[in-house]
Amino acid sequence: MQKRQTKTELEGGVVLVEFNDVSVTYSSGVDALNHVTLKINDGDFAFVVGSSGAGKSTLIKLILKEIDATEGTVTVNGFNLKKLKRRKIPNLRRTLGIVFQDFRLIPTMTVYENVAFVLRVIDAPKKYIKSRVPYVISLVGLAHKAKAYPEELSGGEQQRVALARALVNDPQLIIADEPTGNIDPALSYEIVELLKGINECGTTILMVTHEHDIVRHFGGRIININAGSIAFDETIGGANEAQ
Ligand code: ADP
Repeated sequence: MQKRQTKTELEGGVVLVEFNDVSVTYSSGVDALNHVTLKINDGDFAFVVGSSGAGKSTLIKLILKEIDATEGTVTVNGFNLKKLKRRKIPNLRRTLGIVFQDFRLIPTMTVYENVAFVLRVIDAPKKYIKSRVPYVISLVGLAHKAKAYPEELSGGEQQRVALARALVNDPQLIIADEPTGNIDPALSYEIVELLKGINECGTTILMVTHEHDIVRHFGGRIININAGSIAFDETIGGANEAQ
């Protein structure tokens, strides 16, 4: 994969995601996030951790503009989400790649078709699709499975396809929401290695996880959310670096 110069490298400290004093209160009255202030720079790899109910999904839903902040402002890839009109939301989402715990592949399509579909819906030129899709499938190590259907793949392989789908449109930011949640532990590390490699080529990654072993192994920036607030936001060395 060709290394992309991040805006941070080119211009210094360019912020892709910014939460400024953001709070979310659901209509039920639950305060899911309380005065969260946070910056993700272009080129970062950050883990978002926290126990169930801490507010991790709420944070991700805000970035995708599935919900709006009750208070404060959220900016993502240059879009001020408060001002972003509903019909312009696809423009925001096109700058993002999203990977979910449950893969979300289309079962009636092959690996190739699943990845190509992402580009077809945005009317990418056929020639580009023909060169880009095999390239991205080989990046995630699945060239030999391009004609297979999702049900013929292991969980780890399905998640690689999901990653190829997230990557194919060359997003600035990939959001991975518990991407290893449905995968064997051994294969989980491979998925995170793959995400790390993608990050080293210049794509910013935000990965939500509750798997402490993975976080300890890889290290890096850890954003810990507890009861709707950022409990800590620190960079730690990974166990894999200590050897
Ligand atoms: P996490 O992803 O860390 O498990 P969530 O962001 O899903 O946490 O939830 C944060 C809090 O908001 C929890 O108390 C949860 O019950 C509540 N919550 C989440 N979604 C909704 C919703 N749609 N309506 C009401 N309360 C919600």
